[in-house]
Amino acid sequence: MRKLYCTLTALLLSLLLSGCGAPSVPQPETLTVACTTCPVYLLAQAVSEGVDTVEPVLVVDQQLSCLHDYTLTMGDMKTIEGSSLLAINGAGMEEFLEDVLERRTYLDCSQGLDLLWNEEEEENDPHFWLDPSCAAQMAENLARGLGEADPDHADTFTANAEAVSLRLNDLQQELKEALSALPCRQLITFHDGFSYFARAFDLEIAASVEEEEGSEASARRITELVALIDQYHIPAVFTETNGPDSTAKALAQERDIRVGTLNMGMSSDSLPEGLTGLEAYEWVIRSDVNAILEAYA
Ligand SMILES: [Zn+2]
Repeated sequence: MRKLYCTLTALLLSLLLSGCGAPSVPQPETLTVACTTCPVYLLAQAVSEGVDTVEPVLVVDQQLSCLHDYTLTMGDMKTIEGSSLLAINGAGMEEFLEDVLERRTYLDCSQGLDLLWNEEEEENDPHFWLDPSCAAQMAENLARGLGEADPDHADTFTANAEAVSLRLNDLQQELKEALSALPCRQLITFHDGFSYFARAFDLEIAASVEEEEGSEASARRITELVALIDQYHIPAVFTETNGPDSTAKALAQERDIRVGTLNMGMSSDSLPEGLTGLEAYEWVIRSDVNAILEAYA
């Protein structure tokens, strides 16, 4: 059935192209890599740099802070069906893709990672891309998967992944240093997506506001959060790009503290225009560290 669908799609495409009067010059075969998340997409761009026959495409690109409760759209399905390779974040981030993952092979970027366990959810924490050293491992996984799909360019993918790893190691050291004099190392974030980020930069998550996906905190929870703010002298609470902010604002008003915004880097609209690949990934991590430095200054 899928074969038939692909054949029909190809037929339709060729009809469309010939209709536009495009010349039928034979092109080298393109390896389309469907990347489920924006970080996977940016790292796939970095790893395939210089190889024109590899084309990473982003599957989920909506204005959201994270992918919990996401529902697959027809457009997402088309992107996936039209790809030669499917690259996922893994560790449970792609719950919305379960059916697809059961029936097709895919490249899992979480391979070999030292995953954190989320006690409350009783599952692995999938937000590892916010730790630069984990992103380096993701790049290595991508290089290996791309190399299997396109052995002619395997050496380039490996060299690119190694360059990514070096850059990210430098980035982590630089930002760790920038954060070293922080007066408070406790963070209150909106959703519990920053444990790896905290691990990478010697910070601690005092609490996350959200009790259920997308929900704001209850009155009882607000009392608990205010107590934490007092206990650790926390100078700011954080919302997320594309996330709700009413609880954070209420907390900030209650204790006259600041509201900062963290970015999960999960949507292209949360990135500066024109920035791609490793530069875009680095920008996300840098902007999060800067948000903390500014809010805690
Ligand atoms: Zn999340």
